[in-house]
This record gives sequence, structure tokens and C-alpha cells, in this order.
Amino acid sequence: MTHLVVQGLRAAVAGTEILKGVDLAVSSGEVHAVMGPNGSGKSTLSHVLMGRPGYQVTAGSARLDDVDLLALPTWQRAAAGLFLAMQYPVEVPGVRLSEVLEVAAQAAGRDPSTVATLLEREAERIGFDRRLLDRSLNVDLSGGEQKRNETLQLGVLGARIAILDELDSGLDVDGLRTIARRIEAATEEDGLGVLVITHYSRLLEELRPDFVHVLAHGVIQKTGGPELATELEASGYAEWAAETDRADQVEPLADPFADPLS
Ligand code: ADP
Ligand code: MG
Repeated sequence: MTHLVVQGLRAAVAGTEILKGVDLAVSSGEVHAVMGPNGSGKSTLSHVLMGRPGYQVTAGSARLDDVDLLALPTWQRAAAGLFLAMQYPVEVPGVRLSEVLEVAAQAAGRDPSTVATLLEREAERIGFDRRLLDRSLNVDLSGGEQKRNETLQLGVLGARIAILDELDSGLDVDGLRTIARRIEAATEEDGLGVLVITHYSRLLEELRPDFVHVLAHGVIQKTGGPELATELEASGYAEWAAETDRADQVEPLADPFADPLS
């Protein structure tokens, strides 16, 4: 049984505080949904938990069982069992998916020679075109293919807790259903715990969450069951309105993936 426990998490980007005390706990086999208006900090939460450079954690904690996630570099968070499907997957020309997954398996102390078979099996399971497996990571993939590709990696890596940031964007209805089934199977077969970020209830109709949280103004404003997603679909986020589109006010970071030593 694995527990991701986030307590009082506060974080800033480019000098602006975005997360203002987030509390969340996700355990093996559970599906939690985080919903909220645009710009409310959902992706920021995912990036801070995974350790993307450029975000300053100013208070609080995030633990995966006895592991202090915030003290570790991203790759060690991944090796500890945390997975992030990014809202905007990054294209990495010249690096193949299988190479990434073999290195990841090795870093996590697993046998990299099992990766090829796992990849084939996962591709088959979610109807991912085999021919795409030989491409550079995410390069020349459609939006929907990129999201299937993220799900493929989740299956092969065998994560314990997965954060899925808008995995539904870019997917057609069939893709959405296929991917939801695969993730649901992982929660049942492997006890995967899921934190699914979305602002549409469509994905949640397929991937029935145990809990739904509303993130607005940097804190969890409300928690409920799956019915909360349906309510929000009808009511919108008016209750937490006046969430200014801070995208206009915050200077973008220079290059969050730049080598910090250069
Ligand atoms: P959501 O995913 O809920 O739509 P985000 O977490 O992406 O929202 O963004 C929350 C706020 O933080 C936005 O106003 C956004 O512009 C800002 N922000 C997030 N990441 C960065 C960044 N790397 N550089 C500058 N501003 C950022
Ligand atoms: Mg987002």
C-alpha cells in the first residue's frame, strides 16, 4: 500500500505564489480528480510534485510513503514510483521511447531487457500503432498519439502513483475510453493510485473517481464524490470566479529545462 501525502504545499513561480497550501492524500487503488478553472494551479501542482525546475516550494511537504519527494531530483522521484503524464508532452528528437524506458528501468533497479516485451504488450493493449514505437520521443505524433504514448509509458514503468495532467486533451472519444480502461485496470491489477487533473467531466465518466477536489485560488476549496464533477459540469466554476488569467501577468520562465550549470 502506497500513500502520496501532500500537506500545506505552497509554491511560487516567477515570483508569484500559485499554490497557497494544498492538502491531498492519494493511496494505492484510489482515483482522485483535481478540477478547477484555467490558471488555478493544477499543472503547477503536478510540476511541483514531479520537481520541474523553476518552481519555488515555500512551505509544506510531499511524501511518497517514507520518501520526502521535495528533497529529491525528478529522476529519483520517478524511481520512487511517481509518474507524471504531462499536459504538454515534450518532444525529444533523436531519443527513442524504448531507450528512455530502458534507462528508466535500470535507474529504478529493474531489468532493462524486459522493456521491449512490455512495450509491445502495452502498445497492443491501448491500440498504439507499433510503427510509432520507433520514432523519437513524441516527435511527429498527433495530440492523441502523444497522450496514448504517455499512457504507454505509465504501463511499462509500473509506477505506484500517477499524476495525469489533462490526459483527455487531444484524445477522441474512442481514445479516451481505451485509455481510461487501461488506467482503471492498473488501479485494480497493480494497485496504481491516480491523481487525474482535468476540467471536463467526460474523462471522469469513463474513469470513475473515488474523490473529486476543486482547486481554485491555490487551495483545495471543496472535496466530494463523483457527483461533484457532474455538479461542476452544470454550474461551472462561478463560485470560485475572479480567477484572473494570470498568464498575462506572470513573466514566463526563461527555459525551465536549461542546464542549471550553464
Ligand atoms: P492550470 O493548469 O490550473 O490551468 P497552471 O498551473 O498551468 O494552471 O498555471 C497557474 C498560473 O501560474 C497561471 O497564471 C500561469 O500563467 C502561471 N504559471 C505556471 N507555470 C508557469 C511558468 N513556468 N512560468 C510562468 N508562469 C507560470
Ligand atoms: Mg494545466
